[in-house]
Amino acid sequence: MKKLKIKNVILNGKRKDILIADGKILKISKKIKEKSDCEIEGKNLAALPVFFNMHTHLAMTLFRGIGDDLPLKRWLTTKIWPKELLLTPEKIRKGTEIGLKELKKSGCPFFCDMYWWPQETAKLVIKHKMGGILGVPFIGKGPLIFSKRFALKNFFELKKVVKNYPSIKIAIAPHAIYTVSKNNLVWAKDFARKNNLYYHIHLAETKEEIKFSKEKYGLTPVEFLDKLRILDEETILAHCVHLEEKDIKILARRKSLLVYCPTSNMKLGVCGVFPFRRLKDSSALIALGTDGVASNNNLDMLEEMKIGALLQKHHFCRPEEIKAREIFEAATKIPANFLKIENEIKKGNLANLILVDLTLEEFSGGKDIISHLVYSANYNCVKYLIFNGEIIYQRN
Ligand SMILES: [Zn+2]
Repeated sequence: MKKLKIKNVILNGKRKDILIADGKILKISKKIKEKSDCEIEGKNLAALPVFFNMHTHLAMTLFRGIGDDLPLKRWLTTKIWPKELLLTPEKIRKGTEIGLKELKKSGCPFFCDMYWWPQETAKLVIKHKMGGILGVPFIGKGPLIFSKRFALKNFFELKKVVKNYPSIKIAIAPHAIYTVSKNNLVWAKDFARKNNLYYHIHLAETKEEIKFSKEKYGLTPVEFLDKLRILDEETILAHCVHLEEKDIKILARRKSLLVYCPTSNMKLGVCGVFPFRRLKDSSALIALGTDGVASNNNLDMLEEMKIGALLQKHHFCRPEEIKAREIFEAATKIPANFLKIENEIKKGNLANLILVDLTLEEFSGGKDIISHLVYSANYNCVKYLIFNGEIIYQRN
């Protein structure tokens, strides 16, 4: 059993040694004498939980900077969909490889993805020793139609690839209520329930979507999915920008995971703001996501936390609207708990942690590391990323 010791690291404001073996945290104490195979001197480092990027389309790193400054519909139809028509498994591998490297830099070993050929993404996630929920995409409108039959083919191939790799979970991922028919949305949920899968969908992102839902179904998008019995503890809803009070009540009750994607929402000008405070006060579960790089344009979870917090304060004209710790928890603890993945640095837990470099100017001044992480630092502060007890990234 190989052992890794992190010496003298700051953990919750105190200097500690951390001993990791067999993927788990074996010991945390002031001084650990026990020998190890590998040692990290932590005197200039702080240990913190890892980040979870809960909504992205990883291989879209291929489209970074393409179609900037356009509204969602025009961006999709004139820039993204024509490019996606030309995608191949080989291109997906290329884009995914870039995305995985960028995620690791951001202290993020786990992501929730929705993109073509997830079986190709899975092979690379395994190679990089990372984890994720890989969504089998499903879309009935637009030039690139991914039918039920194609989704099934992808699903069975993906299932085979991840069979012996528990850090990858599978989702069925219908694109949105305006691109997938009612019958297929329900079919996807039944299929997810039968096969023990998550269900990942874009929801209530734009005003046009709300208009579509009310005109076609006489319901808000949230009411519509609730009526179809799709919302539950295995459902992940990206965006949730345009919500009414009745929607908030439903979402809090169903305990689905809502993913706040502030940069993408601002960049695509969706004309609304994720109601963080009202959702949080209703006990809804909130996570954070970057969305794809084509609408962000990076995968920096630290930048996402800052933008997410500032947007709330600015929009609601209240600096106290959201606290640094709340957005930090949306990026770490809440998604981990939702997924039942250990992400607290304590004895007996899986060793999932980042070590950040406190010698950087960004950490000067006050002593509150969470404040510096949210408001000052960017992803260059992540010196080590440890996932399932292994160092999977180290900044030189
Ligand atoms: Zn998205």
